[in-house]
Amino acid sequence: KRRIGVLTSGGDAPGMNGAVRAVVRMAIHNGCEAFAIYEGYDGLVKGGDMIKEMRWEDVRGFLSEGGTLIGTARCMEFMERAGRTKAAKNMILNGIDALVVCGGDGSLTGADKFRSEWPELLQDLVDTKELTADQIVPFKHLNIVGLVGSIDNDLSMTDATIGCYTSLTRICEAVDSVDTTASSHQRAFVVEVMGRHCGWLALMAGVATGADFIFIPENPPDSDWEEQMCRTIKKHRAKGKRKTIVIVAEGAIDENNNKIPCGMVKDILSKKAGLDTRITTLGHVQRGGTPCAYDRMLSTLQGVEAVKAVIEATPETPSPVICIVENKIVRRSLVEAVAQTQEVAKAIGEKDFNTAMKLRDAEFTE
Ligand code: ADP
Repeated sequence: KRRIGVLTSGGDAPGMNGAVRAVVRMAIHNGCEAFAIYEGYDGLVKGGDMIKEMRWEDVRGFLSEGGTLIGTARCMEFMERAGRTKAAKNMILNGIDALVVCGGDGSLTGADKFRSEWPELLQDLVDTKELTADQIVPFKHLNIVGLVGSIDNDLSMTDATIGCYTSLTRICEAVDSVDTTASSHQRAFVVEVMGRHCGWLALMAGVATGADFIFIPENPPDSDWEEQMCRTIKKHRAKGKRKTIVIVAEGAIDENNNKIPCGMVKDILSKKAGLDTRITTLGHVQRGGTPCAYDRMLSTLQGVEAVKAVIEATPETPSPVICIVENKIVRRSLVEAVAQTQEVAKAIGEKDFNTAMKLRDAEFTE
């Protein structure tokens, strides 16, 4: 009978609650006990009433709620070994021997570090007499399972992360609203969208809204982009289009790795294309609100798979991250998925955009 902890960590994403609900109910369904760890790794480090057993009815209504109801945090203490030692102690005091972490690549990196250090952390606790040798005996192995919660869709090896389609939906709704006023006044709008180092939201929002021009970090524009952009937009206007939408990913860069600020794009559209131009930064609206149907489905199926992975785990199996590839829920190596994600960031930093696009996702290369 396993005692499975679940936590949400890093940036919140719509659908995280669906994942918590699925983990709790699937655990109970399989005769296991489920524990919610509140406020991400903070709850694990602090222990006490930050760790609560969850019953079936405790997660009622979670599926349609945005954000994360069990809280999330960025926890500096967990970055240090001392913090992780405290976390290990709290796990053992609560009898928890498996942890499902729903978060971004940072949270998953932390989770894997915790797992790899686990035997040493336990030994430290015995050496410092915080726990007895007998107490640690049933906890030889820690099972970690990762679920990717991130609106950015920035993890390699999965086609979608929990939250990205809700965020894309929010962006589309916002651009639709901007569209009506833009058309009325024949204006241009520069819309900044989130995504940190990943242009997925900007790229897909561009496709979904029929934007005139987009900027994403994975594919910086040629050096003559100012002329290119104005030429494209003038061509669209010549066909009778009354509005112009340019979508800029927050991490957009030019050939020389310099950020492309929305203000600069606006000035070019105003001065070189002669358009009355405004900037709309969508901000946290993109992170909030009710999860869309896809994220409810994805988080539920992945939460179920996470518990299956815990139940089937042997000491030899490496920590999995639950992914979706070509519409199938699959397990991948958590370490490899995180490493590949970091390789993308490195490739972008080194201006090796071909590699970045190839490692990113099928959408970027096709
Ligand atoms: P995200 O999971 O959204 O990428 P962060 O990178 O902020 O967000 O990570 C969330 C939390 O995960 C951090 O505040 C920290 O507690 C933990 N974490 C991140 N990276 C590491 C690491 N290398 N080692 C240990 N813990 C980490």
